Amino acid sequence: MKKITSVCPYCGAGCKLKLVVENNKIIRAEAAEGVTNQNQLCLKGYYGWDFLNDTRLLTPRLTRPLIRYQKGDKFTPVTWDEAIRYTARRLLEIRDNAGPRAIMTTGSSRGTGNETNYVMQKFARAVLNTNNVDCCARVCHGPSVAGLQETLGNGAMSNSISDIENSKCLLIFGYNCADSHPIVARRVIKARQNGAKIIVCDPRRIETARIADQHLQLNNGCNMALVNAFGYVLIDELLYDKEYVNKHTQGLDAYWQTVKDYAPEAVEHLTGVPASQVRQAMRTFAAAPSATVMWGMGVTQFGQAVDVVRGLSSLALLTGNLGRPHVGVGPVRGQNNVQGACDMGVLPNLFPGYQDVTDAAVREKFARAWGIDASRMDDKVGTRITEVPHLALEGKIKAYYIMGEDPLQTEADLGLVRDGFAALDFVVVQDIFMTKTAEMADVILPATSWGEHGGVFTCADRGFQRFEKAVDPTGDVKRDWEIISLLASEMGYPMHYENNQQIWDEMRELCPLFYGVTWEKMGDLGHIQWPCPDLDHPGTPYLYENSRFDTPDGKGKLFAAPWRAPAEVPDEAYPLVLCTVREVGHYSCRSMTGNCAALQALADEPGYVQISTQDAQKAGIRHRDLVWVSSRRGKVISRADVSGRINQGAVYMTYQWWIGACNELTQDNLDPISKTPETKYCAVNIEKIDDQ
Ligand code: SF4
Repeated sequence: MKKITSVCPYCGAGCKLKLVVENNKIIRAEAAEGVTNQNQLCLKGYYGWDFLNDTRLLTPRLTRPLIRYQKGDKFTPVTWDEAIRYTARRLLEIRDNAGPRAIMTTGSSRGTGNETNYVMQKFARAVLNTNNVDCCARVCHGPSVAGLQETLGNGAMSNSISDIENSKCLLIFGYNCADSHPIVARRVIKARQNGAKIIVCDPRRIETARIADQHLQLNNGCNMALVNAFGYVLIDELLYDKEYVNKHTQGLDAYWQTVKDYAPEAVEHLTGVPASQVRQAMRTFAAAPSATVMWGMGVTQFGQAVDVVRGLSSLALLTGNLGRPHVGVGPVRGQNNVQGACDMGVLPNLFPGYQDVTDAAVREKFARAWGIDASRMDDKVGTRITEVPHLALEGKIKAYYIMGEDPLQTEADLGLVRDGFAALDFVVVQDIFMTKTAEMADVILPATSWGEHGGVFTCADRGFQRFEKAVDPTGDVKRDWEIISLLASEMGYPMHYENNQQIWDEMRELCPLFYGVTWEKMGDLGHIQWPCPDLDHPGTPYLYENSRFDTPDGKGKLFAAPWRAPAEVPDEAYPLVLCTVREVGHYSCRSMTGNCAALQALADEPGYVQISTQDAQKAGIRHRDLVWVSSRRGKVISRADVSGRINQGAVYMTYQWWIGACNELTQDNLDPISKTPETKYCAVNIEKIDDQ
């Protein structure tokens, strides 16, 4: 029996754990003394390894390469040589005939690790010569990356998960940490125990609201109006830190010109929050000796998400809550390695280490390191994954190489996504399970899973952590980066790596932000937060020391924008708002957690739709009734979860169920900057299914 150090693959909390292994089977998981989790795990950490033992799998594990030679044919099992040869030939044909930008690729924010993401973006840029590489950050915290990069200089949490408990005020906006990051929720409870004031802004009475000093139960779709009202109060009541604002920020006049129209009394009808509560919240926030703003996808999955992120960072700037311990802005990233995927440059506008693809000197540096002519590098921002269905239907994207993502489960408006896939000439899926996306592939390249390989993840607070291989894989599968390297070599660009560390070292030589994060420094339980610019540097627990921001003029940018209504509002036919949320026991497209016995027992198909007692009564629906939920785009079956904690006029579904897939209903109104879809708001109807 041996114990292998790993990092939980299920959320950005980055909990360290030990996998106990006997005879190549995992026996159990034990919590380890990680920096973020301190010997604690949630259910997913304790029970989310079961699929590796191949028991009770609902979805077939991919164990050998498969090719569908003609659309409509069945898959044919093939050798790796044939799979690589065929895929390389088809990709080369498309690149040479339709151009590099006709091919789209993805990295993965999940169990594969940073090294693979580095190799995937290198493949896109050096072999395919396109910046068409993206990841599922696009559909979650893309707006946090874009918004914070502009206002503060870095698209990441400015603080540390371990420091949340030391803050004296937490403003928690659109973030249900009890379901999304249970171990981060512990820090919120600890902060409360340490005397922090807690202000929760959420339409539902979520768990955190139960321990909050104030719960501002705003109407769905009104984030910008409430954030502007906060800004109004800070200035109107002279609660803001004048000296800090003068010294460290710019844009106050323009900021006021917008927020002056958002007096809490004037927008009460819109936000649904009594003006006195808004004023009280800002008095508490501004008076706290240290305050932290935290948010989740209740902020980012809207058509006006980047504006709201910029507005939230302005609240921290106005009150001087940046650049010192116990304060900051915390967009708590959802998937375990979504921060890492962004760090490694699986983004269409950035190389690894947040270096701009439109900067000729940066392109030259990467081209030299990769041994290619810089003139072959794409100098324009590439395609985002949410644009692919549209561009495929227009014939501009012809091939899609998808690694460790399941867009046919996780993206908005699945009917549109399916149509886009049907229009593609060639789809390659590299994954561990036969997901819905894999079922539509032309080639399937089976990869090793978390637990079967090691690597590095970045957790939500910029902390790089190593995880190790626990068991040997079964089946004829390969590491993700090995598959990509074989493809690159077959396509005429020799690529060979011996191990993860070799890739890591190549990456950090090219990224000043990460240069000091050596393999050894990360060690067994290490957690090294970027920036870490040199070998002696210990890492950076909080950004912007002394409030020197990483913007061109070193100042933080204040920002406000007029509120915009969501794209599709309720009407007579579809009278309720649908908002997508998270289920505590499952993760992402559920291919991993949905194949773990203990987590299946917790919640399973067809999922549930949370509805208020009043709306349920109106529709004649009782708790646990089977219901149809429909929108203008589709209809799915679900089970009613009737609760007094749900606000009237809205229903809530998690996007993970394969049968009750609520993305059949959602719409893809994209934020104009981040191109993130508005999956938190569309109009639906709900009806009881009679013959049960
Ligand atoms: Fe920790 Fe998140 Fe894993 Fe739970 S799912 S154990 S909170 S990393």
